[in-house]
Amino acid sequence: MDHIEARILEQIDAKRGALLSFGEETYRSAETGYEEFNTARRAAQWLRGFGYTVREGLAVTGLRAEIGNGDGPAVAVIGELDGILCPTHPQANAAAGGISHACGHHAQLNAVLGAAAAFADPEVARSIQGRVVFFLVPAEEYVPIERRVRLTAEGKISRCSGKSELLCLGEFDDIDLALTTHVHMVDSAADLLVGNNCSTGSFTKTVRLVGKAAHAAAAPHNGVNALSAATLGLSAIGLIREGFRERDCVRIHTNITHGGDAINVVPANVTVEGMVRAANLDALEAVSAKFDRAFEGTAYAVGAKAETETWQGYLPGPFIPADPAQLLAAETVRAAFGPGFSVEKADAAVQNYASTDVGDLAQVMPVLNFTHSGTRGSLHSSDFAVVDPEKALVVPSKMMALTAYHLLKENAALARGAISRYTPPFTRDEYRGYIRRFK
Ligand SMILES: [Zn+2]
Ligand SMILES: [Zn+2]
Repeated sequence: MDHIEARILEQIDAKRGALLSFGEETYRSAETGYEEFNTARRAAQWLRGFGYTVREGLAVTGLRAEIGNGDGPAVAVIGELDGILCPTHPQANAAAGGISHACGHHAQLNAVLGAAAAFADPEVARSIQGRVVFFLVPAEEYVPIERRVRLTAEGKISRCSGKSELLCLGEFDDIDLALTTHVHMVDSAADLLVGNNCSTGSFTKTVRLVGKAAHAAAAPHNGVNALSAATLGLSAIGLIREGFRERDCVRIHTNITHGGDAINVVPANVTVEGMVRAANLDALEAVSAKFDRAFEGTAYAVGAKAETETWQGYLPGPFIPADPAQLLAAETVRAAFGPGFSVEKADAAVQNYASTDVGDLAQVMPVLNFTHSGTRGSLHSSDFAVVDPEKALVVPSKMMALTAYHLLKENAALARGAISRYTPPFTRDEYRGYIRRFK
């Protein structure tokens, strides 16, 4: 272990108590995407306490602060601010309508803030060639369409997720590599899993089925039943599933959000909401077109009309490998995390079927990710809980800070290598052009 690594660990150990109470407070006071005002204010206060200049109000609640010099690449150390709607979670924030940290984003916030505390040490700050940008981003969880429409009408945002909004605002234009973390998203017994597993991309769908109202008993022959059109459309979706390739990891979810008006009137207006997901953009676009056709065709069959709309979701995240041995020597792992602590490499064959806006980032820059232990239960569920505060709220800070240091030490050789090996599918302008095709 070198002197700077020891210094990083010393700084974070000295803040251990503060980090644990910060994380516990965040856990109790989760807020929804683009409304994380209290969380962002507390984070800004923490950063200012360590002497950072903080830019606030980015994509409503995002913030960034940085350290280093212009002699090398810029590495964004990223944490997400938002919670998820899960009112049955025992720690749900009732004042915020049942938002909880059942996705563990409070642990990410700690990872960034602990790393910032380590880099506030002048010796650590001087050891890098390049910049570390501590970037706290809002709204990773999908913002429901109704709320997004309202926020857009109010002029606050134009895109569905925080990273997409910040990419559109140009706030990632000066970043060369992103460093992200999460609690484990795929099954793993490791304490740390290093590398970015593939995640699916997604679009959201609204289908308005328009029929004709009529007396349901006296004159059903005069009506056109929009609910029948919706039912046929859902059956068609069920039947086309057999044509999907396993490797495309397609998922389709549907929900009838409005099924008709009065029970004695032939339903004339029915709304179906859907979500399509796939592991690559070609498959995602293909399944999106099939979804629309299923409803347009079956509506035609009963004499109704289907009006379909596609809303931006997340882009698929490619697998980005990372070698733990290159990032952390075994001796450093032992010194940092204690004996018996396991660090493993993410397996390229394991797909994360969920979607995240980290996928959008990975479409334009390399994303080095690690996931960590310290929690139990399922993500987004009431049984999700932190069971090992050390592993959930302190260890990720050390990993973030050590990795940022390793990437940027010795003329930023590791960061430069990762950047030059990665060919992003989109330039930033191409990304902005692509996603503006969707609502
Ligand atoms: Zn989540
Ligand atoms: Zn999450």
